[in-house]
Amino acid sequence: MLKAVDLMVFYENMLALNNIEIHCGQNSITGVFGANSAGKSTLMYSLSGIMLDIRKKEKMAGGERITLTGKLSFQGKDIMDLKPSLRARAGIILCPERRRLFKESTVMENLRIGGYLATKTQARQTLEFVMELFPALKRLKNRLGGFLSGGEQQMVAIGRALMAQPEILLLDEPLLGLSPLMQATLVKAVKAIQKESKISILVSEQYARPVFPIVDYAYILENGAAVMEGTRDELMDNPDVKSAYFGV
Ligand code: ATP
Repeated sequence: MLKAVDLMVFYENMLALNNIEIHCGQNSITGVFGANSAGKSTLMYSLSGIMLDIRKKEKMAGGERITLTGKLSFQGKDIMDLKPSLRARAGIILCPERRRLFKESTVMENLRIGGYLATKTQARQTLEFVMELFPALKRLKNRLGGFLSGGEQQMVAIGRALMAQPEILLLDEPLLGLSPLMQATLVKAVKAIQKESKISILVSEQYARPVFPIVDYAYILENGAAVMEGTRDELMDNPDVKSAYFGV
């Protein structure tokens, strides 16, 4: 469904993604695991198209040159040059690292903003789904984004992304900085989203352990390159992966 082939991204002369080939299957959860600076956000920005905007902004500001090469396709169509807004319309929705909520807007406003691509019926149904998924948000509807805990913010960020009616949801480090309990709640929710909405999910994380049980297939990124890949079981049985990502 979403596929990258020979994807390369340079920030000026620094190679941030090196010949990446990844494939996110229909109706499944794909993981991308890698340490700090491995290139996870660069990959998410490239897939969602935000990288084209970042590149444009840098160019206008006379900043560093960002170069993107390779092939990106979504449901068989070439999307390499497609603007991020059109990728969103096609169903590629990014839930960015560090949530990026509108801090001065309430939870409901944040969710509704996400629904700008949805019909009224879709927005109503998705809102119901989000509240079932995260019952904790029910009593926080009128709270400002800036006054939520990290975990609550992440729930709103995922809810907001769902409101945009994704075909594929890109979750960039959703567990970052959260307690193990909150991580478990979110991982369960991500699985429920995939199961009930039948969408595809690509999730990146620094630590594989909390997310590993729900991924169907995963890639390990190191210094911008995918150094390993496989099904959950294949990677679980790999001693290198075990020692590097599970500490066993
Ligand atoms: P983290 O877990 O810290 O978020 P990451 O895996 O998401 O890391 P990226 O943010 O994609 O990694 O960064 C990959 C590399 O590219 C890093 O070395 C980073 O410093 C560099 N980089 C990212 N954004 C830019 C930019 N706008 N300009 C220059 N270098 C950048």
